[in-house]
Amino acid sequence: MRKINRAVKIRICPNAEQRVQIEKTIGCSRFIYNCMLADKMEHYKKEKKMLRNTPASYKKEYPWLKEVDSLALANIQMHLESAFHKFFREPSAGFPRFKSKKSSRKSYTTNVVNGNIFLEGKYFGKRAEYPMFYRNTEKKLAREQRKLSRCQKGSQNYKKQKKRVALCHEKIRNQRKDFQHKLSASLAESFDAVCVEDLNLKGMAGGLHLGKGVHDNGYGLFLSMLEYKLEERGKYLIKADRYFASSKICSVCGNKKEELSLSDRIYYCECGNRMDRDVNAAVNIMNEGKRIFAECA
Ligand SMILES: [Zn+2]
Repeated sequence: MRKINRAVKIRICPNAEQRVQIEKTIGCSRFIYNCMLADKMEHYKKEKKMLRNTPASYKKEYPWLKEVDSLALANIQMHLESAFHKFFREPSAGFPRFKSKKSSRKSYTTNVVNGNIFLEGKYFGKRAEYPMFYRNTEKKLAREQRKLSRCQKGSQNYKKQKKRVALCHEKIRNQRKDFQHKLSASLAESFDAVCVEDLNLKGMAGGLHLGKGVHDNGYGLFLSMLEYKLEERGKYLIKADRYFASSKICSVCGNKKEELSLSDRIYYCECGNRMDRDVNAAVNIMNEGKRIFAECA
C-alpha cells in the first residue's frame, strides 16, 4: 500500500506555560539526538557495530527528559536511525550531523494517540471560487439573450444577434473548461488523494458553483478531469457514496442532525462544534474517503 501523508499547516497560539513546554521539548529532543548520535559513533569506533540505544536508557541519568512528550523523543530515535540508514545506502547523503542550538531548525515531531491532538476550529482550507470574470461573461450572455428576445424572428438582426449569443455560450464553455482544467491540475499536483462526493445532486451546494446558470454536467466533467489527472500521477480519486450525509454529520463528534436547512451557513452542534457548513461537510468527506481508502487498501 502506498502511504499517504497529508500535511496541514496551522498557526498555534500557545500560552506562556505551553510555550515553555514546547521550548523544553525542542531542547530535550536536540539533547537526546546529540547524546544518541555521540554514543553511536563512539560505540561504532570501538566495536565496529551499530549501537541500539533508546531515549529511555538516558532517562535515569537525565531525569528531566521525563518532563517532555516521550513521543517526541521516540521520534528522535527514528529520525536518527533513518539518517544512518540513508547514509549507509547512499553515503553522498552525508553522515548524521549534530544538531546545534543556534542553527538547527527548532522543531519536534509527535504523534496522535487516542485523539490527543486535534484541530480546534482552525482550518487553512482553500475554497475554490468560480472566477469573477466568468460571471461577467454570464452577465453578458444574459444581456445578449434579452436583446435577442426583442428581435423579430427571422430578421437579419435576429440572425446577427443569435450568432452573438452563440459566441457568448462558447466563451463561457471555454472559460469554464479552462478553470476546471487548472483547478483539477493544481489539486492533482498538490495532493496524493482527493476525496469527493460521488455526484453532487444537491444542486452544486458546494463551493465550486461549476454549473451555475448553465444546464450541463459541470461537476461530472470536473470529476473526470480530476480523476485522470490524479491517475496519471499514480494518485487516487476517492468517491464518497452520494447518500453519505456529509453536511448533516458533525465532523467533530459524529452526531447526525436530521434537519438542516440550506440557509444555515454555519454548522452548530451540541458538542460545541461551530464550523462553516461547507468546511464541516468537506472534513466529513475527507474522513469518509480515508475510511474507504483503508478498506480498499
Ligand atoms: Zn458535534
